[in-house]
Amino acid sequence: MKSIFNYYKSIFLALRSLWQGMKLTGYYFSHPKKMLVQPYPENRDTLVIPSRFKGNLTLIHDAENLHACTACGICEINCPNGTIKILSKMEEQEDGKKKKVLDKWVYHMGLCTFCGLCVDACPSDAIAFDNTFEHSAYKSTTLNKVLNNPGSKLKSTVK
Ligand code: SF4
Ligand code: SF4
Repeated sequence: MKSIFNYYKSIFLALRSLWQGMKLTGYYFSHPKKMLVQPYPENRDTLVIPSRFKGNLTLIHDAENLHACTACGICEINCPNGTIKILSKMEEQEDGKKKKVLDKWVYHMGLCTFCGLCVDACPSDAIAFDNTFEHSAYKSTTLNKVLNNPGSKLKSTVK
């Protein structure tokens, strides 16, 4: 007797769930402006991404192709996922002294959890997240990036 009761109960619950789902679908069908799902990619040009969104890690360069990275490696140490590799080299300065400078700022986006610890830890404010979000790629190697521009140099104001 109990099993028959449970059988009809499960049918009732299934129909009730179906009704609730169809009711919601009907509501959004008749009120398209209330839809929470974005009609992406059709709205790509008008999409507003909040500035706080962490989309893409960048090494900030100014108009003269100068950055503020001293290759100190603090971001690399603070990254919990081994996402960052700071490669440095010794370069002769105008005064003849050699100084460690950034060679390659390597970022493995596929390992990044977008926690922001690297940005918070950087003493030079050299890196930041922008809010771009389209990172799909056919090959995972595409997600390995060098963030310093070719030919870029350290700003003279950063020590
Ligand atoms: S955001 Fe987090 S996981 Fe990504 S590179 Fe920075 S510290 Fe590493
Ligand atoms: S990005 Fe900042 S923390 Fe990382 S190596 Fe450059 S200066 Fe150091």
